[in-house]
Amino acid sequence: MKAFNHTNAKNLAEAKTALAKGEAELIAGGTDLIGRLKDNILPLHPTALINIKTIDGLDYIKEEAGVLKIGATTRLADIAANSVISQKYTALAQAAGRVATPHVRDMGTIGGNLAQLHRCWYFRKPENRFPCVRKNGTTCYAMTGDNRYHSIFGAVNRCIAVNISDTAPALIALNAKILTTSRTIDADSFFDVKNPGNTVLAAGEIIKEIQIPAPPAGARSAFLKFAIRKSIDFPIVNCAVLVGGGPARIALNAVAPKPYRATKAEAVIAGKPINDANAEAAAAAALEDAKPLTATRYKLQIARTLVKRALLRTRTL
Ligand SMILES: Cc1cc2nc3c(=O)[nH]c(=O)nc-3n(C[C@H](O)[C@H](O)[C@H](O)COP(=O)(O)OP(=O)(O)OC[C@H]3O[C@@H](n4cnc5c(N)ncnc54)[C@H](O)[C@@H]3O)c2cc1C
Repeated sequence: MKAFNHTNAKNLAEAKTALAKGEAELIAGGTDLIGRLKDNILPLHPTALINIKTIDGLDYIKEEAGVLKIGATTRLADIAANSVISQKYTALAQAAGRVATPHVRDMGTIGGNLAQLHRCWYFRKPENRFPCVRKNGTTCYAMTGDNRYHSIFGAVNRCIAVNISDTAPALIALNAKILTTSRTIDADSFFDVKNPGNTVLAAGEIIKEIQIPAPPAGARSAFLKFAIRKSIDFPIVNCAVLVGGGPARIALNAVAPKPYRATKAEAVIAGKPINDANAEAAAAAALEDAKPLTATRYKLQIARTLVKRALLRTRTL
């Protein structure tokens, strides 16, 4: 692992100033970043890590004036265990509780979960052995290589790696907003495909808070994840839904380079009761625009099943 300076930031202003000084990167729980640095996967290496866990007042869960507010360094374990989130913002508690293992959830933060980089075994190959399009190279090695865990909705900027954040689809379904040091961004518009980032965050921009409006009366949300292993594993597909009390919102992840909002499925279920037939019709609509690769075709049925089951699950919560 290459050497770097480590700074404990006292406040966001200090973190921003430190970030502006050359090749610096934020570190929160470090569960994504440290592995990346150890494996040397990127051509550029930060010369400084700015620890934001030392910033007072960035780790909280509170409800104010009908809005749930979560500080960026709040740990996933705390979100999963919070009774208000479990009851009212259920999809988020379920999503946070399905990330990796208890250990990763005890370290990993909500900000880091949103800003983590994608999972692609070519991109993540140690020692930058595959200088792919996400590293300003010319080739997506997954396009012609082993792409069984990749996109079923085509490429974005010639990349078919998927975003695997478990909390992202829950936040999109729950209509969350991401507050940063310079603006407020709808969760739906927060994700992007950059080199190497996965979000619209500009250089030096820091996530401060996640805000979720209280779901309307009668609304229910649910999150489901399919992974190969029952314990620690990234999603093959995950899905979050919000139904009742207003327009339905349905989001999937691990199916495309950014989280996928299933608007066709939302339209199909709009104003209808959640029953087997309607949930199945919505699930079919969710995958209508899929363009799977030969090796990712199996994900279609998994995604359909998750959409259907997540919708039906809202009836039993
Ligand atoms: C073995 C293993 C299994 C995993 N399984 C899953 C899984 O099943 N589901 C899943 O969703 N994820 C999974 N992850 C990915 C990820 O590590 C965690 O989800 C975790 O939430 C990342 O948070 P962190 O605080 O550790 O991020 P860090 O590693 O500290 O940071 C990740 C990135 O986010 C940036 N960042 C952190 N905080 C902020 C902020 N406030 N503002 C702007 N940028 C920020 C950092 O600069 C860095 O680039 C797994 C990781 C490992 C190692």
